[in-house]
Order: sequence, then structure tokens, then C-alpha cells
Amino acid sequence: MKERNSDLETLGHRIRHFRGQRGLTLDQLGERLNLAGSQLSLIENGKREARVGTLQAIASALDIDLATLLSGEAPNARAALEIELARAQKSPLYAALGLPQVKPTRGMSAESLEAMVGLHRELARRASEAIATPEEARRANTELRERMRARNNYMPEIEALAEERVRASGHVSGALTHREVSVMAEQLGFSLLYVNDLPSSTRSVTDLANGRIYLPPASIPGGHGLRSMALQAMAHRLLGHERPASYAEFLWQRLEINYYAACCLMPREASVSFLQTAKKERRLAIEDFRDAFGVTHEAAALRFTNLATEHLDMRLHFLRVNGDGALQKGYENDDLPLPTDVTGSIEGQFVCKQWSARSAFTHTNRTTEFYQYTDTPAGTFWCATQTGNAQSPSGRAGEFSISVGVPFAQAKWFRGRETTNRAESRCPDESCCRRAPSGLASRWSGQAWPSARLHAHVLSPLPSGTFPGVDDAEVYEFLESHQREA
Ligand SMILES: [Zn+2]
Repeated sequence: MKERNSDLETLGHRIRHFRGQRGLTLDQLGERLNLAGSQLSLIENGKREARVGTLQAIASALDIDLATLLSGEAPNARAALEIELARAQKSPLYAALGLPQVKPTRGMSAESLEAMVGLHRELARRASEAIATPEEARRANTELRERMRARNNYMPEIEALAEERVRASGHVSGALTHREVSVMAEQLGFSLLYVNDLPSSTRSVTDLANGRIYLPPASIPGGHGLRSMALQAMAHRLLGHERPASYAEFLWQRLEINYYAACCLMPREASVSFLQTAKKERRLAIEDFRDAFGVTHEAAALRFTNLATEHLDMRLHFLRVNGDGALQKGYENDDLPLPTDVTGSIEGQFVCKQWSARSAFTHTNRTTEFYQYTDTPAGTFWCATQTGNAQSPSGRAGEFSISVGVPFAQAKWFRGRETTNRAESRCPDESCCRRAPSGLASRWSGQAWPSARLHAHVLSPLPSGTFPGVDDAEVYEFLESHQREA
């Protein structure tokens, strides 16, 4: 109904436009159609629908064909503004304000009209921005995790697509090279350009008009990050992504492009065969998988979660934990009790101090993975944890650990199963590690006055340009300047 009304609006403007061009008054045109001028006026104002026969008569009286009359385009810039204003005033958003409907008259200046339409646009933009509140973002993130858990973190369609694209690049085995990634881009009609002035709100920018993907310069020559970013940019095109309409869709698209890039860097067939051999020989290790495919430890660990349940018949969990113990990312389908807040969100929650994800920080030898068995209320788990340092000048805040773990019965397939490290975790029972031992508590209670440090939010609402979190002007200026160079 709304659609039809706005079509009537445009049609009315077109009739008025062509009538004006012919120099006819309402009554003069009405006379030729055997229609009262007042009836015609209702049609021009979008208040009455005309029969096809009448429209045909109007078109021939105005000396244009019917298709021209019915085109969905506003006949001129002024009419476009008037149509937009009429639509905006009919929106529920405007109705909720209880303000009067303003009918643009011929005497209304272009400035007034532009100002009103501009305010309506800003009203709509702010309303859509308000959707991504932190609560909304956290909820969307939790739903996403549950959705992926239900499918064992596995997306066969994207696996197949990536395998096909990687094969088409001429790649045979081992790590995917930068050259092969460039070929994959060329096959999609894009060239890869590394620039120093990428807008700070973006990871990459794709110029659809000129077939270019702009990427940041390599900070580490040969690092896997660039291949991954280029593949992610291509994935948006290959997966037919449209501008995300909600925060949930934005997150889903991000997940899909990350998944695609991981599938290209660690293709299914090669990865599964590598992992199955290691499993058969009882020497599975994320660090070997990482080294075989030239990716980061985190990328290898996450990729392992995609393939383990589907292809290795194994349930498992993955954790990325900050130096302070807060969970940054997590996945489980082995029932490891992840800490959650009341909304079910895990990000920013502190994991048990007894878990290897935290105890690994206290071990001095960090060149290899740290192994540990942990008894929990949900059973015993075996975990392998690798610690690392994000390049951040803020010391301990830059530390993180990556853990992959499995239920006790599955430990036999992994290197490190013979470890004697063992811990007991009673979390979420607070006496496990959240409450001070009673001796200490009675000694210090009332004697300590700590000043709290504020935690940065893991998820914060995104400022919204045309794309969430991205400054449009910056992106457009960037593209302009590079267009001139070429
Ligand atoms: Zn605990």
C-alpha cells in the first residue's frame, strides 16, 4: 500500500510536469480528457488512482507514450524533493512525533524544501544508528555464536566455494602464496593495491567502478594478514553481500568473509588430510597445522574448530583470553562451561583462574604450547594453550592466550596428552577462584582500598555511515585521490 502511494505521488508529479511543459491548465487538460479539472487535480496530488484507460488518454493528450508517463523517476530535482518529503512525512517515524503534515506549495523556496528533507534524512539516519546499542550488539553476537554452535562451526557452501576458487588460481598444495591471491583477485576482475593512506575506519576499500582492492601496506613482509584481508575483501563480492541492514547482518557478513579467507588459506581437502594423518599418528597439534599452512596460531586454532567435529569426529572448544583473564572470543560444542553474563554473552567475562587459558601466562617457557588437564563440574578437559603478545605498548594488556581443548577421552589424539599438569576448577562456584581464601579475607577485610581500572568494552556500538563503522567522506576522498593518480 505504501509502495503504491509513493508511485501515485511520482505519477502525479509527472503529469503536472508534462502538463506544465505543454502550457495547459488543469481545466484545459481535463477538457481534452472529458474529466473535471478537480478530478485531475486529485490524480496529480497522488490522492486518486487513475484507470489505465484514463492514463492512456492523459499520455496521448500530453503527446508522450504511456511508458514515459509511468516511469518511476521524478521529473525534476524539485519534484524529487517534494516526493521525498511526502514519503518521509508518511513514515511511522514522523507520525510518532505528532507534528503536522506540511504540503509544499509552489511558493515554498528550494532552500526550505531542502532543509526539511535534510532534517528528515538525518532523523532516519539517527533512528537506524540507535538500533546498534551495546545490548543489541551483544545479543546479536550471542545469537551468532549459538547459530554456529548448532552447525558445529562448519559452513559447507563456503568451503566448496573457496576450494573451487583456490583450485582455479592454480594452487596445488602447501601455503597459499601472495601471487596466488593476486591471481584470485584478477579472476574476479580486481587488482590489489597496497597504500599508506587507507582510511583509518577501514580494513580494506574496494573500488567497484575501477576494479581495485586497496589494502594497507605489509607491516611484516610475507605476513598472513594481507592475504587474509585481500581474500576477505573478495569474499564480499563472491558471497553477494549487500549493505548490511542490521548489526546482526553486519556480524554475519564479517563471519562469512573471515570463514572464506580461512578456507582459502587452509583449504578443506588439504587441511583434513593433514589433520587426519596427524590424528592417526596421535600427534595432533595446532602449532604444526599453523606452520604447515603459514598462518597465525589463532587462525589455525579457529580453522581447527571448523573441521574437527565434521571431519575428525571430535567435540572441542576454543578460547582467546586476555592477559587479565577476560574472554575475547570463545567457541565450544563440548559443553565446557564458559562464563556468561545475564544475557548469555561471553565476551569480556573472566574465565576460571585454574584453566590453562590463564595458568599458561605464569609458565616461563612460552615457545611451545602449554598442556593441562582440568577437572571441571562438566567433566575433565585436556587443553593446549599458546600465549602471545599483541603488539601493544601497554604491557600486560597486550598479552593473550589461544587455547584449543577437548574432553578427556579425545586427548589421546594430541601431542602433549602425557602432560602431568593437572588442575581443578569449581567455577562458577565462587569459592573456586572468585573469592579470597578465608584466612586472607579475615586479615585484609576493611584494610584495603583498591581503585578500579575501567575495562574497555569488547563490543561497543558502531558509528554508522553508509557502512557501519565507516566514515563515508574519508572513504570517498580516498578513492577520489587514487583515481586521479591512475
Ligand atoms: Zn575458578
